[in-house]
Amino acid sequence: MTKKVVISFPDGEASRPLIYELIKKFDIIVSIIKADIDGGRRGKLVLELDSDSEHIRRAIDFMKESGVDVSPLEKKISYDDSKCVSCGACTSACPSGALSISAPSWKLQFQPDKCVVCKLCITACPLKLFHIEFAD
Ligand code: SF4
Ligand code: SF4
Repeated sequence: MTKKVVISFPDGEASRPLIYELIKKFDIIVSIIKADIDGGRRGKLVLELDSDSEHIRRAIDFMKESGVDVSPLEKKISYDDSKCVSCGACTSACPSGALSISAPSWKLQFQPDKCVVCKLCITACPLKLFHIEFAD
């Protein structure tokens, strides 16, 4: 399985060889998706961890026990409503009911709490108004 996480180093700890430790101790393939490190002192990394679930769970416990903050990387869908023409193409594709068009406005309504991030709206929209956002 793969799991994306955001890790935040405490002050002064950002230069520690954490990636090496994860690979060596837990047999995890680690991909760095994003790095934002301030002079080796503090910072954040977005990592993709690839291994079996038990190794990943132990690795996350290890990071937390050593003072590194670990949180799951959340993905969400956003769209540019200022350019939407309410054509309805995305509502037909959406399996969860997060996108809808109804009277009296006949304008596209988006309910993020219903979205399962299946990404079908990204390809359905002829104007390419949807995109994935990563938030920590
Ligand atoms: S990602 Fe899927 S569930 Fe979310 S709004 Fe788009 S089509 Fe609907
Ligand atoms: S497919 Fe695009 S333009 Fe059409 S309603 Fe959905 S977001 Fe708006």
